[in-house]
Amino acid sequence: SKRIAVLTSGGDAPGMNACIRAIVVACEGAGHTIIGFEHGYNGLLEQNWRKLDSKKVHNIIQRGGTILRSARCKTFKQDASGQLAANNLDELAIDALIVIGGDGSFRGAVHLGKFWGGQVIGLPGTIDNDIYGCDATIGYYTAIDTAVSSIDKVRDTADAFERIFLVEVMGRHAGFLGASAALAGAANYVILPELFTDPESVLNEIQQQVAIHRQRYGHESYIIVLTENLWPSGINALAEALETRTDGEVRPVILGHVQRGGSPVSQDRILATTLGVQAVRSIEQGKNGIMVATAQGDVVEVALEETWQHKKTLGNTLTHCMLTMLNERHHWP
Ligand code: ATP
Repeated sequence: SKRIAVLTSGGDAPGMNACIRAIVVACEGAGHTIIGFEHGYNGLLEQNWRKLDSKKVHNIIQRGGTILRSARCKTFKQDASGQLAANNLDELAIDALIVIGGDGSFRGAVHLGKFWGGQVIGLPGTIDNDIYGCDATIGYYTAIDTAVSSIDKVRDTADAFERIFLVEVMGRHAGFLGASAALAGAANYVILPELFTDPESVLNEIQQQVAIHRQRYGHESYIIVLTENLWPSGINALAEALETRTDGEVRPVILGHVQRGGSPVSQDRILATTLGVQAVRSIEQGKNGIMVATAQGDVVEVALEETWQHKKTLGNTLTHCMLTMLNERHHWP
C-alpha cells in the first residue's frame, strides 16, 4: 500500500470535491493512506494537511468549490520552495502527490518533480478547458451550464426591451467556454480569441449583422457573447462603440465569478470520479509526471509538459460542423 497526497490549486472549479471524494474512496478501497494539503501549494510549504477518509468526503459530491481550499502560491516557482515541498513530502513519507488544477498548477507539479523523487500526477480541473490533451476539464461542463442559464435570463429581459446584450464569459485566453455557451445559448454573435481578427472588422461585422437581424426579426433581442481579456479597451468601451454603430441600447453583462460556483452538473461529477479513480490506478502502476484525462471516450495519460507545450484548439473539442455554425452564427435565429 502507498501513502498518497492530494491538493487543489489555481482557480477552483465545480467538481473538484467530487474528484477528491473519488480519490479517497479509491485509496480506502485499495488500502492506501490518503492525506489532503490545504490551500494549494501553500499547504505543501506550510505543512498544512489533514488525513482524509470516506467520512470526511461524505456528502460533498454535489458541492462546488473544494473542501481542501484552493490558492495561488507565487513563491512556489522558486527552487527553495520546490526543495522545501520535497522535504516536507519526504518527512510525511508520501509516495505520490495528485494535483488537481490548471496548466499553472501542472507547471508547479513539474517544478516539484525536479526536487522530489515521488510520483506526481495531474488531473485537469479548471472551468476554462484550456489544457491540451483532454476533451474536457473538471468544471467546464458546469460553467457552460451556468453561462447558458444566464444567457437565457438575459434574453428574457432583452426581448422585453428590444435591446442588444453583450455577455462576457470567462475563459482566460481561450474560447472554449464562450463557444459552447454561445452555441447552447443560441447567441447571435460571438467574439472569441480563436476567431478574432481586429476590433474594426468585428465592429463592422456586428453592425451589418444587426441590420440584417432587424430586417428579419424586427427589434428582437440580439445577444453577443464575448470572451474575457479579449476586447482591447474592455467591455464597456465595446458596448459604447456598438451603441453608436447600431443606434440602439447595448447593455454589457459580466458573468464573472458566478461561473466558478454552483453544484457540479452530472457530467463533471462523472468526469471527476473517473479521473480520481484512474489517478490512483496510475499511481499503483508506478506512473509519474503525467496528466490523467479523457480524450475521445478513453482515459489517457499525457506527459505534464505536453499539456502546456501544445496549444489546444477549438477544433480539438468542437466538430467542424459546430465551428461552421459559429462562423455563420448570424444565419441562425
Ligand atoms: P486556472 O487556469 O483555472 O486559474 P491554474 O492552475 O492554471 O488554474 P495558476 O494561477 O496559473 O492557475 O497556477 C496555480 C499555481 O501553480 C500558482 O499559484 C503557483 O503556485 C503554481 N505555478 C504556476 N506556474 C508555476 C511554475 N512555472 N513553477 C512553479 N509553480 C507554478
